[in-house]
Amino acid sequence: MTHYDVIVIGAGGVGSAALYHGAAQGLKILGIDRFSPPHNHGSSHGQTRIIRMAYFEHPDYVPLLKQAYAGWKHLEQLSGQQLYHEVGLLEVGPVDGIVIPGVLRSSKEHDLPLDQFTTHEAQRQFPGFDFPENHTVLFEQQAGYLMVEDCIASYLAAAQQQGAKLNCEESLVSWKPHQGEVEVVTDKQTYRCSKLIITTGAWTSSFTGNCQLPLTLLRKHLYWYRSDSKNYLASQGCPVFFYEDQGRFFYGFPELQPGTGVKVSEHSGGDPLSDPSVLDPSQNQEDRLAVEAFLKKSLPQVSRDLVQHAACMYTMTPDENFIVDVHPECADVVLAAGLSGHGFKFASVLGQMLIELSATGNTSLPIDFLSIKRFG
Ligand SMILES: Cc1cc2nc3c(=O)[nH]c(=O)nc-3n(C[C@H](O)[C@H](O)[C@H](O)COP(=O)(O)OP(=O)(O)OC[C@H]3O[C@@H](n4cnc5c(N)ncnc54)[C@H](O)[C@@H]3O)c2cc1C
Repeated sequence: MTHYDVIVIGAGGVGSAALYHGAAQGLKILGIDRFSPPHNHGSSHGQTRIIRMAYFEHPDYVPLLKQAYAGWKHLEQLSGQQLYHEVGLLEVGPVDGIVIPGVLRSSKEHDLPLDQFTTHEAQRQFPGFDFPENHTVLFEQQAGYLMVEDCIASYLAAAQQQGAKLNCEESLVSWKPHQGEVEVVTDKQTYRCSKLIITTGAWTSSFTGNCQLPLTLLRKHLYWYRSDSKNYLASQGCPVFFYEDQGRFFYGFPELQPGTGVKVSEHSGGDPLSDPSVLDPSQNQEDRLAVEAFLKKSLPQVSRDLVQHAACMYTMTPDENFIVDVHPECADVVLAAGLSGHGFKFASVLGQMLIELSATGNTSLPIDFLSIKRFG
């Protein structure tokens, strides 16, 4: 039976980064994935992901983000490819809502630069967008988008160059502690490893043993709409955007090339899903209408002609903060789960932290707010 220092189950967003960081440290490491990443069956597809620093969700994410930005830059150097596009981020919402106070709080606590506009100034600066009179408009320059599939492919290539082994189209069936190691059973063979890292995204609930994590799944939709206006082209300075609108959240991306469409989605809402292996790729009419109503109000020069649609999964925790921890019943198993629809930008730092956690039981970054213990 082959023995590894570390086995990483799931080579998607976070797992691909863990595989690279382990291999770069000289570990004998194996990645196993039920598909062939990057793929469109999980949570890491659809071309782009927003990355931003002044984090409205919780200021404690900011130290992780600083490391995450450095990680993506390092990956760009390794791959010789641009993965991060710093087009800036527009954040719009009521002053007493969730987004604006959260961004201002993180910016203040961590001394992060932000521009604040009146709606009239914003209208002049960003001609493709409309802003409700009574909303606050913030602009964060140090933000933009990551090319999601390219990031994963780059991490997997870099990991394999450093000696990592990657077995695709192979599924974890079970794991158990065995004589001071971990025994890992897949649908193809049995392995032993000193440390196991679980990064199985939407499938994680099946692999946490007696430790039942409070994870729920949502099916989410991405839409690309045609626009003939240059105002939405990335090359013309169109930023990524995130709007809070009457308690709902909508976000999107500039058109990357003329004709490819402006990508828009609702971050709130979503269709509850019980089995991640049955991700229905069809559209949800109600969701689409809500996105189109948002477009009409806020990006009026975008048409309702759909260029492309994709379905994807969020794995939610009750407080929408991640779970990154050592397994409570087995110190040789660590996991990152419940990324709650905002985790991709962190994949670079999460991969690094999981390798550190698996080796020492600790990380140098402050992640107490992401522990399993908070759920009791
Ligand atoms: C529509 C949408 C928009 C998003 N927008 C953003 C955004 O703008 N910014 C942002 O930061 N985040 C965003 N996110 C969230 C982010 O994309 C995810 O949190 C992140 O990509 C999840 O990474 P992961 O590694 O946990 O999961 P995945 O990348 O899905 O990886 C899990 C892997 O585990 C594998 N696997 C599962 N079961 C097994 C098994 N039994 N054996 C072997 N392998 C297995 C799967 O095949 C998969 O490859 C968005 C998510 C969605 C769905």
